[in-house]
Amino acid sequence: MKTILTGIKPTGKLTLGNYIGVLKRLKDFQNQGECYIFIADLHALTLPIEPSELNENSIDIACFYLAAGLDPNKITLFLQSSVSAHAEMAIILQNYLYMGELSRMTQFKDKSSKMNKNSIGLGLFAYPVLMAGDILLYDADEVPVGEDQIQHVELTRDLVKRINNRYGDVFKMPSAKFNKVGARIMSLSDPSKKMSKSDPKGDIFLKDDVKTIRKKIMSAVTDSGCEIKYDEENKPGISNLLTIYACMKNISIEEAEKVFNGYRYGDFKKCVADAVIEEIEPFQQRYIEIKENKLYEDVLRQGALKANKKSQEVLNRIKEKIGLLKA
Ligand code: ATP
Ligand code: MG
Repeated sequence: MKTILTGIKPTGKLTLGNYIGVLKRLKDFQNQGECYIFIADLHALTLPIEPSELNENSIDIACFYLAAGLDPNKITLFLQSSVSAHAEMAIILQNYLYMGELSRMTQFKDKSSKMNKNSIGLGLFAYPVLMAGDILLYDADEVPVGEDQIQHVELTRDLVKRINNRYGDVFKMPSAKFNKVGARIMSLSDPSKKMSKSDPKGDIFLKDDVKTIRKKIMSAVTDSGCEIKYDEENKPGISNLLTIYACMKNISIEEAEKVFNGYRYGDFKKCVADAVIEEIEPFQQRYIEIKENKLYEDVLRQGALKANKKSQEVLNRIKEKIGLLKA
């Protein structure tokens, strides 16, 4: 049976991009293999964040995971910080990843370029080291991600080759799993930029009320043309809305284009809003119920126990291979 691992960092309010890129797909994954799903709270510390916000975001992600249909009896859901092997593994792996390759990571370049040079944390630079550990600690075969995280999974693969070449078979080779459609949902107010929770630009948040969602979609930036056609270069706004619609309806882009043949932009946007609301509204209700009843608490506790057990095995494996003594 294959092992699947994925995480979301509690850096902000989850967006429709997170939902389409990952959350929506998880329900199917839990029937395809053993799933380790976590809240990447240590990763959230790589950019400045208020403690109360980190707390609330972490609870929200746990509730959203469950609202997305994850069954706690089938999967292991846990907080990264409650499994100490993640931090230990990062300390080991940092010696096998190099400054040159880390400084070429797009996420690091993007996020650090917006900061004062003197206040870029070491953790932001070393983010892919921690992430490689997250993946390797569970012998993951597949890592479902959106497009922005593919580069980090590729780096993890390079690291596996490097370590396995030197020490023999230590780590399992993981691969990124992403959908062709929906791996990169763009901002509604600036379709040249990725929808991002830590840098939102008119994005749809999963906690937005229905009226706000509709308003944001109706005022999404498009172009001065009139054709509903997928053309990322010349019609990025329309292409993004077509992608969102196709993902909501589980159809291809071509099928979505056919549906809107001859439609005006306004009518098209209304249908996109309807499709999003139809799916997100019941999802929000499940989220509220889970949060109010604190159903996530026990799930996270049990998840930490299971994740600790598995990750310790792998941690011991690498420690032994590299020559660390067991006292
Ligand atoms: P941040 O701005 O803090 O990086 P984010 O919105 O990019 O936030 P992450 O925690 O980095 O969210 O990623 C969680 C998951 O959601 C990852 O698998 C990521 O690839 C996916 N994801 C993030 N943004 C999008 C997007 N716009 N479209 C599709 N998938 C996305
Ligand atoms: Mg991101």
